[in-house]
Amino acid sequence: MLSIVSLTLGPVMTNTYIIADENRGEAVVIDPADEGKRIAEELKERNWRLVSIWLTHAHFDHMGGSAELAEHSTPMPPVALHAEDYQLWRIQGGAAFFGMKIDPGPEPTIELKDNQELNIGEYKFKVLYAPGHTPGHVMFYNKSESVLICGDVIFQGSIGRTDLPGGDFDTLITSIKTRVMTLPDETVLLSGHGPQSTVGIERQYNPYVR
Ligand SMILES: [Zn+2]
Ligand SMILES: [Zn+2]
Repeated sequence: MLSIVSLTLGPVMTNTYIIADENRGEAVVIDPADEGKRIAEELKERNWRLVSIWLTHAHFDHMGGSAELAEHSTPMPPVALHAEDYQLWRIQGGAAFFGMKIDPGPEPTIELKDNQELNIGEYKFKVLYAPGHTPGHVMFYNKSESVLICGDVIFQGSIGRTDLPGGDFDTLITSIKTRVMTLPDETVLLSGHGPQSTVGIERQYNPYVR
């Protein structure tokens, strides 16, 4: 069974997702937003082994818990990120812009590429490149379970902001139309902030994509 645990963490209520193949006891943490030790405890409680940390993008509120999570995991999990967001990672995800400071944790060693296939145990996830909110934003799509971890690309009734450095509105809209809205209506959207939705609901109600 594919199991998804969501935790809302950090100063801007970011969703962290722990995704596991329960049979194998293998898990990946997507966007460890904050409180890395707590995320590590959630894994331990369930007897899941952390194989990797995946980042949808390198904003500080999506990786603020990376350092502490890695510190409390043995062996230390590799971090995956798209190369176009490395620069943002190096400046701590723009934390200073908000008067904050974070430890970005272990340097990314897995370079995410569009259409790349990744595994969580027996489950396949496809990397979908979706720039606009940041230059190197990606989403993770599992077809068999109809689930898309979409970061800050699209939210229930809204879309990611594009006024931060590296953001571009037209690019984001194109990403949403070509990478999100082309998925089946029943696809569950697990966003970086706020409640979950589906492609069908957003197709009907999201003012940005109609
Ligand atoms: Zn963001
Ligand atoms: Zn965010």
